[in-house]
Amino acid sequence: MGSTQATPGPPAGGPAAQERQAGGTPRVALAELLAGNRRFVSGQPMHGHDVTAAAAASGDQQPYAVVLGCIDSRVPLEAIFDQTFGAMCVIRTGGHVLDRAVRGSIEFAVGQLGVPLVMVLGHERCGAVGAAVQALRSGQRPGGSLAHLVDEIAPAVVEAGLDDPAVQPLAIRRHVGRTVRALRHDDLLAGPVAAGRVAVVGGLYDLATGEVALLDPP
Ligand SMILES: [Zn+2]
Repeated sequence: MGSTQATPGPPAGGPAAQERQAGGTPRVALAELLAGNRRFVSGQPMHGHDVTAAAAASGDQQPYAVVLGCIDSRVPLEAIFDQTFGAMCVIRTGGHVLDRAVRGSIEFAVGQLGVPLVMVLGHERCGAVGAAVQALRSGQRPGGSLAHLVDEIAPAVVEAGLDDPAVQPLAIRRHVGRTVRALRHDDLLAGPVAAGRVAVVGGLYDLATGEVALLDPP
């Protein structure tokens, strides 16, 4: 048994992943997520989405973040955070609107999988927010379940000021903030959030640069 052979190699995923497993704190999870975005922006992603990554993550899952984003095709969440299989749970709805299924999914990730970080990610020129602005300006509420999206986004548009020329970008930020606050007060999330075991943060994605900026730094 030579000492060289007994020396373990670097852990898979690097030092951040090692600390993440040991601590599982919101702070470490957020640093990991933002580091992934910087790798993506710099054009030097670490992770590829091939079958070897799928196989490597095929055992038990230990994700460290939940990201709730929009369905927008220009905002693929695993790609923009340079995350591999098994690293994060992704939920996407139009305008990252909450409903019971979304809340239940986040509660599952936090309560059953021990995820310490929830990020709500909005983005520029969000079509769902645009639809809410249009519905309020025209007074015509859309039919079907699209009405649910508009109804959930409408308060942020009103807060931003319907007559403001910049209502849409302002409403996007307001809507992220409102979604973050709603999750912080969720029945099953409020306790872990108050105890500091879980953080819910808001972010905004820049379509042109690929950068994620925190809207409400913890
Ligand atoms: Zn959108």
